[in-house]
Amino acid sequence: MSLALDSPLNAMPELSSRMVKTLEKEGLTQVADVISWLPFRHEDRTRDENISFQVSDIPVCHRVLVTKTGNKFFGRRGSGMFEASVEPSGGASMGQLLTLRWWGMAFMSRVIAEGQKLIVYGKIKEFKSKLSMDHPEYEILDDDETATIHSGRITPVYRLKAGITQKTLRTAAWHIVQALGDDFTQDVLPKPSEQGEFAGWNRARALKAVHFAETLESLEKARRYLALEEFYGYQLRVVQRRRAVLESGGHAHVAGLLARDFEAALPFQMTGAQKRSLIEIQQDMASKAPMNRLLHGDVGSGKTVVAFAAMLGAVESGKQAALMAPTQILADQHYQTARKWLEPLGLRVALRTGARSEESTAHDTGICEIVIGTHALLHDAQLVKNLGLVVIDEQHKFGVAQRAKLIQKGNTPDVLVMTATPIPRTLTLTIYGDLDVSTIDERPKERGKIITKVRPASKQADAAKFLLEQLEEGRQAYLVYPLIEESEKLDVTAAKKGHEQWCKLLPNFSVGLLHGKLDAEEKDQVMRDFRSGKHEVLVSTTVIEVGVDVPNASVMYIHHAERYGLAQLHQLRGRIGRGEHTSYCVLFVADKDEEAKSRLAIMEETTDGFRISEEDLKRRGPGDVLGKAQSGQAPLKFAELLADTRLVRLARQLAEKTLDEDPLLKATRFADIRAFIFQEDVPQAMMQ
Ligand code: ADP
Ligand code: MG
Repeated sequence: MSLALDSPLNAMPELSSRMVKTLEKEGLTQVADVISWLPFRHEDRTRDENISFQVSDIPVCHRVLVTKTGNKFFGRRGSGMFEASVEPSGGASMGQLLTLRWWGMAFMSRVIAEGQKLIVYGKIKEFKSKLSMDHPEYEILDDDETATIHSGRITPVYRLKAGITQKTLRTAAWHIVQALGDDFTQDVLPKPSEQGEFAGWNRARALKAVHFAETLESLEKARRYLALEEFYGYQLRVVQRRRAVLESGGHAHVAGLLARDFEAALPFQMTGAQKRSLIEIQQDMASKAPMNRLLHGDVGSGKTVVAFAAMLGAVESGKQAALMAPTQILADQHYQTARKWLEPLGLRVALRTGARSEESTAHDTGICEIVIGTHALLHDAQLVKNLGLVVIDEQHKFGVAQRAKLIQKGNTPDVLVMTATPIPRTLTLTIYGDLDVSTIDERPKERGKIITKVRPASKQADAAKFLLEQLEEGRQAYLVYPLIEESEKLDVTAAKKGHEQWCKLLPNFSVGLLHGKLDAEEKDQVMRDFRSGKHEVLVSTTVIEVGVDVPNASVMYIHHAERYGLAQLHQLRGRIGRGEHTSYCVLFVADKDEEAKSRLAIMEETTDGFRISEEDLKRRGPGDVLGKAQSGQAPLKFAELLADTRLVRLARQLAEKTLDEDPLLKATRFADIRAFIFQEDVPQAMMQ
């Protein structure tokens, strides 16, 4: 009987009982447990060219013959070292000898003996014209054994649990791979003929090859096959979810005169990209199927005005529209804007930011056409049933559950989520796969440019002079104080100190102070005073990071910029450059911090969020980005291949086709992943 995935490890004669016990102790009891423990990288140990030994900084692999062994002891304590002299096993003994050394491992004398043939893998050093390799990985070759497990091949390296060594796991995997037949597992992916480049591959072959591949090419193919399978599982889920939403029966919200009047009354012309996005949104809203759309645009691209215009579509159909923002400062700002733009059209606007309704600033959320607020909206009992459109601003700042809760308040409302997080297309397909996407890829004209400089903290005196000039020309400034080890209390202290200093440095100007510890009303007051120009300068913690819009502010100093990620700096900097004036952003970093200077250099080069995020991705890898985005879900095993557009698109196409043919995924190959795909946690679980 051939080996199956559910065979117990102790049924395999090739594995010693000691080895099986070790594995069992860590929970690996079946063949499947070992096979699904994928190597996280491989080492190319094929370069086994019987040539003479040479000094090498990268590990090399040699087939050797042991000519002499012995223990050496130093000092009175007798700390010892086991040494084995070896020559190339091809017998080219004319060449130099190599000494293998195991420090503090005298017991190796019971393992390695004269006359043995070994394969060794490690770095070769030279000392006093003697060559040595310390603690090599090694494998003892039986005379008749040609196949090798640990060396002389492309060797898998596993992430280990305590108690299991690399060798144990690799040996188990090797014997299992040898013993498994060609069809030990069912394919999840559709027929290979539909997958283009993967002709001849199936799941069984890929799983075997991802452990032990004969060539680097087949290893790569196997990894891509398994990545495709993984992405396909994800895409089945998002496509399924997307279709479920479309079929759930929403309402038609057709935009009319109101939206036109609104546009006509705006103090500016919408950009082409804004208009295009609005049309896409309005078309979705006009259809009976519920809209589920992402409005994606870099900081300052003008998403708010598009959202307001969209909200009018719901209003015109006799419904309410709600907009939820992540901070109270931002909610208040949207409220002010809505009043300015929408009240003249005869609409009523409510704001809800406090947990209790007394704290709400104005109006009854139950009757106003437009409702704006923070997550406090979630607890608003008035706000139910009549919601036609839900807009979620800076959606990445909300948890999945919060978004779901607001959406559930409506009776299958249209949903528009907005973000400035610049994500590459392939990641969009994965994270936001169940959403339609509109992109505002054009900034309003007549915007001043932003000049960014990274400067040592010691140059702050010069910066003060420059700030003074700008203020005298009528501009305003943000002075951002740092993120200190995740402690808001320390942040506040730093901001307060900064505030005192700047008040002294700028005696003729009014300097406001804003931080998270102020109560709601104080925050609103400070922000309003800054917006109205009463404060020329705002010293602030990162509470202004998202959304804040004061076009006359054209200077931003960020202290301790080395403590921020690129994405966050980009968001912060997005607070300036919103008006016609040239803006200036200075990133102060600790004086000798060369690493920070090089990391932040991209900020000097560009204001394009996409390029900055690409740089970020390069430094952190998509796994990190997605890992966080999935919040709670197991990270993708092959996340780094998400950069492979072709693969992600292929997964999407295959998923669409599969669901056309088999909407409930009844085929047996989906038995294992069906639960994952139909999991009813919350809508849009894939969103960041
Ligand atoms: P974001 O996309 O970052 O949310 P906002 O919606 O806050 O950007 O818009 C930034 C600023 O640009 C606001 O002051 C807004 O009124 C203004 N704005 C939006 N669209 C245009 C446009 N087409 N022309 C000029 N200014 C615009
Ligand atoms: Mg915004």
